[in-house]
Amino acid sequence: MAIIIKSPDEIAAMRQAGSIVASILRTLSKEIRTGMTTRQLDDIAVRELARYGATSSFKGYRGFPTTLCVSINDEVVHGIPGDRVICEGDIVSLDFGAIIDGFHGDAAITVGVGNISPKAKQLLETTKGSLEAGIAVAHPGAHLSDISAAIQHHAESRGFSVVREYTGHGIGREMHEEPQIPNFGPPGRGPVLQKGMVLAIEPMVNIGGWETKVKNNHWTVITADGSLSGHFEKTIAITDGEAEVLTAWDQPPIGIP
Ligand code: MG
Repeated sequence: MAIIIKSPDEIAAMRQAGSIVASILRTLSKEIRTGMTTRQLDDIAVRELARYGATSSFKGYRGFPTTLCVSINDEVVHGIPGDRVICEGDIVSLDFGAIIDGFHGDAAITVGVGNISPKAKQLLETTKGSLEAGIAVAHPGAHLSDISAAIQHHAESRGFSVVREYTGHGIGREMHEEPQIPNFGPPGRGPVLQKGMVLAIEPMVNIGGWETKVKNNHWTVITADGSLSGHFEKTIAITDGEAEVLTAWDQPPIGIP
């Protein structure tokens, strides 16, 4: 399957989807508290989606049961909301996708709850920085793997590792379109980026090794060594110049009470 180039009208629709995703993530990052269950976060996402007249990208995707993915501490991605209670010092990844007028938006943030360790704070800053480093090289004429290499360099030069089994992706009328976007590898490979490509870039960065495993629920991915993992994602459109972030949010402060 080829990479689908979006028209300006299609990008406009995706801007709408992206802004809804960003707005709901912002709400979630403000509402998250010690003592809440992860299900309560999912309930907020469901309520907010309905308010915007949008639907979930995730619920029902290959049987995924909820609207939001909530992945805590050593959980990397695809955590399923439920009875787990959020504790002081947790780092909580919130990954969320929405569909409006037939187009998807997809983004993720990791927030620290209360006082988090200096190492955890550094992990979140590095993961966010890796995403920004990837976006910074996403312009026409660059190769896809220039994004991958920028992400890997940013994370590894700070002593962290990037997860290899899960990737970013093209996005549009489908949540997962071509191309896959690994978060590691040499630059100068893969397709040349061109205006109208829309990409969800999503580094997952670990304090320890990059290896992961999947929990018995067949969904939740955890680090193999139990180390903390961060995840940030934005949906971007390739333009004539700098990439346009379709899921731009006011960066929530690290260490939300
Ligand atoms: Mg994604």
